Amino acid sequence: MHQLTLTQLQQGLANGDFTATDIAEHYLSRIEAHDPQLNSFITITADQALAQAKAADEARAKGEAGPLNGLPIAHKDMFCTQGVKTTSASRMLDNFVPPYSATAVERLQQAGMVMLGKTNMDEFAMGSSNTTSFYGAVKNPWQPDCVPGGSSGGSAAAVAARLTPAATGSDTGGSIRQPAALTGITGLKPTYGRISRWGMIALASSMDQAGPMATTAEDCALLLNALAGHDNKDSTSATQAAEDYTQGLQQPISGLRIGVPEEFFPETLSSGVANPVRAALSLLEEQGAVLVPISLPCLAWVVPTYTALVAAEACSNLSRFDGVRFGHQCDNPKDIEDLFTRSRSEGFGANVKERILLGNSMLSVENYQRYYVKAQQVRRLISQALTEALQEVDLIAGPTTPDVAFGFDDKQDPVSMNLSDTFTIGANLAGLPAISFPVGFEQGLPVGAQLIGGAFKEAQLLQVVHQYQQATQWHQETPKLGAAQ
Ligand code: GLN
Repeated sequence: MHQLTLTQLQQGLANGDFTATDIAEHYLSRIEAHDPQLNSFITITADQALAQAKAADEARAKGEAGPLNGLPIAHKDMFCTQGVKTTSASRMLDNFVPPYSATAVERLQQAGMVMLGKTNMDEFAMGSSNTTSFYGAVKNPWQPDCVPGGSSGGSAAAVAARLTPAATGSDTGGSIRQPAALTGITGLKPTYGRISRWGMIALASSMDQAGPMATTAEDCALLLNALAGHDNKDSTSATQAAEDYTQGLQQPISGLRIGVPEEFFPETLSSGVANPVRAALSLLEEQGAVLVPISLPCLAWVVPTYTALVAAEACSNLSRFDGVRFGHQCDNPKDIEDLFTRSRSEGFGANVKERILLGNSMLSVENYQRYYVKAQQVRRLISQALTEALQEVDLIAGPTTPDVAFGFDDKQDPVSMNLSDTFTIGANLAGLPAISFPVGFEQGLPVGAQLIGGAFKEAQLLQVVHQYQQATQWHQETPKLGAAQ
């Protein structure tokens, strides 16, 4: 059953081949058997899942089943879930049980989806390796001595290992696409504002965006149908009407212009990544797309620009965690100063503290003009360059990441860690939609390709990847897991 996509599970439910309860029981038993090795979940909500599955079966019996009714989902642990612990993988929120659910969670729940649990992640969504979680690192199901990527590493590993057919993630600088690439699944970061940020624990509010992670583009489209749309509770959510994202999937891609920036294929790029990505582009060409060589020199600036802006926004967002209103509180504070200092010192991990220090420095009187304002100006230039390029071509393509999954001991310093986001960050700075999909393997580890589209062109990204997946099998490859099931 776990080899089935969401779309196939949907058909099976409609045909009466199995019930939502059968599906929930199957995935819960897979989680129980395999998650101790992977650590992809922080919280497993078995009782609630079985109750939701029962309700979904009852709704179906009454003829009230919508397209997502009875299908399982796991949520990254930065989406607030009413009555279910939500930690952002931080000690700071180890005891936090939200009184409300994020809009994304609520929409999928109202559509009848069954929540299996909350997935592990880098602390406060900062990272590219899922090694900074208070609850321990997540392992890559393809090779347990390698990282799954981050920060949505738990969601990616769980989908890759088929412990859930789909999960939510969030992407501020690549956190859906990079772990999707490193675990061989499909992950979509929509246009900024396409999915409400209400109830998502913020990293950088001007870039955070939720999105679906699944094995196929078709499944991502199915989820986006329920997730997308304006939300009065989020003033930055887009007012543009959402579309039916599954409708255009079957359309051929002939005549589509795909820009291939030379900067996405630097000389230093390993052939193990470059070759499968180039082969994928050739296949799209055979399917009728036109490849157009382009140049985007601005891509050289994305990492420093992003680093300055994310740190500045993160330190502001994290200032609310003061030991008074939310989360961890130190024992026996002497005075208010001691309460703030010790609660934050104890609650945050080293990586988070580094970003807070950097962010405060960026916003300090001495550095504000020199770094923060400068980074905003460069962001505008990057955004303009990408938007102008997308007037000449329909999509921009390249590898999602410069490397396949790295070992737990590699890339420990923050600078080389940030470089793993070189190809993904541009889409966040410009607020554009982008998708990562599996295109091959290098020494047993998955390789992902990325497509970046014009604003609100999610349907086109999903269509191209769906056409590619109709002609290839990479998305069907599954890792062999340790314990039998
Ligand atoms: N790896 C990037 C960072 O550490 C991206 C994080 C994200 O997209 N949430 O900031």
